[in-house]
Amino acid sequence: MGAGKSRVLHRSLRETPPRAVGGDGVWLIAEDGRRILDASGGAALSCLGHQHPRVLEAMSRQASKLAYAHTSFFTSEPAEALAEKLVGHEPGGLAYAYLVSGGSEAVEAGIKLARQYFIEIGQPQRQRFIARRQSYHGNTLGALAAGGNAWRREPYAPLLSAAFSHVTPAFAYHEMRAGESEADFVARLAAQLEAEFQRLGPDNVAAFIAEPVVGATAGCVPAPEGYFRAVRDICDRHGALLILDEVMCGMGRTGTRHAWEQEGIAPDIQAIAKGLGGGYQPIGAMLAGASIVDSIRDGSGAFQHGHTYMAHPIACAAALEVQRVIDDEQLLDRVKDLGRQLERRLTERFGNHRHVGDIRGRGLFQAIELVADRATRVPFDPSLKLNQRIKAIAFEGGLGCYPAGGCVDGRSGDHVLLAPPYIATSDDIDMIVDRLGRAVDAALQSVGH
Ligand code: PMP
Repeated sequence: MGAGKSRVLHRSLRETPPRAVGGDGVWLIAEDGRRILDASGGAALSCLGHQHPRVLEAMSRQASKLAYAHTSFFTSEPAEALAEKLVGHEPGGLAYAYLVSGGSEAVEAGIKLARQYFIEIGQPQRQRFIARRQSYHGNTLGALAAGGNAWRREPYAPLLSAAFSHVTPAFAYHEMRAGESEADFVARLAAQLEAEFQRLGPDNVAAFIAEPVVGATAGCVPAPEGYFRAVRDICDRHGALLILDEVMCGMGRTGTRHAWEQEGIAPDIQAIAKGLGGGYQPIGAMLAGASIVDSIRDGSGAFQHGHTYMAHPIACAAALEVQRVIDDEQLLDRVKDLGRQLERRLTERFGNHRHVGDIRGRGLFQAIELVADRATRVPFDPSLKLNQRIKAIAFEGGLGCYPAGGCVDGRSGDHVLLAPPYIATSDDIDMIVDRLGRAVDAALQSVGH
């Protein structure tokens, strides 16, 4: 379809993307019959691939029983079962699930719950939130204010709450100094966070919010060993909450259900979405600790927040089945195995590539970062839009991958993020790296490198 013909307001107002007409496991099928290997699961959603029969069946069963009932009148069977499935299992895990329709809504709910909690326990002065540069927490105004993605924030800066301030991210490739050990890097970041608490007045801070493995803004960046323990300690010492945004990196993507399980800590509040429903329905959740919820229950008695479509029965049924399939088929073990293979293959293909500066990630959440010069780690000129070129060329070659970066602080440049479905085969992983390698080289050639 030509530009300007579609009445759908697409992200690009100049080009209408090709129509997707079908899905088949790891494959997406376009109207012209092309099959695209979905190596990023859209934006890290499609953990079970496309058209999984068990999920389709669960949705249809729920739709035929009850499609919708408003949550101010009713709860529903799938909402109760999903919450049961999501909380109360991992050591230190959270106790309640607030079911919403996506990641931004989950983050907004977390921010508001933290704020209301401090009002209820008699600390209304806690109005400040600390987040990190190079983070993304969603596109609604509260979540956007929390995020540190300069490019996404810029046009809306006058509308964003000044309650959020930003510290240096735990992004070793760009932020660690020459000669600095990982432990010293963590100590420096912790000192900076402590200084930010002091600047704001420690009793004025409600929460620190971070992604355990940074997704769209930086490209699969895990924190160095000990970072989250240090952050947890600082929050505890000052009576502030720790909110973890696992919208992209959670629900098994890194090989454990929650990415924080690998950090030796647990959050007070957590946002999940994407892999929760696997893309079958729009769904997200804010998970909260018992003491927070109990304080509000014993106080005003109600969370002063809500959305019309929250805990939607068909969305809950879909997510419940996605999570059951992950458990029944022990897919987290598969994520760990395939993740190791993906990392190995990326290292073989790009380890000596003169324009790939970093290969990083966890589980089936891996990225490469492109640099103009490996020695100085200087990014390519953003006007080349290298990551968009890679995306377009990869697509022509039958591969869907997720470009990121090229937009933050002028420090880091272009990344390509991979988040294949957990049901991928070993051959699919090989094919992803092979197709990506060709696309990267062709895109570099197209800009004279
Ligand atoms: N937080 C993170 C870490 C995300 O990656 C995203 C989406 N990319 C969001 C929040 C927002 O989620 P949604 O697009 O579902 O609103």
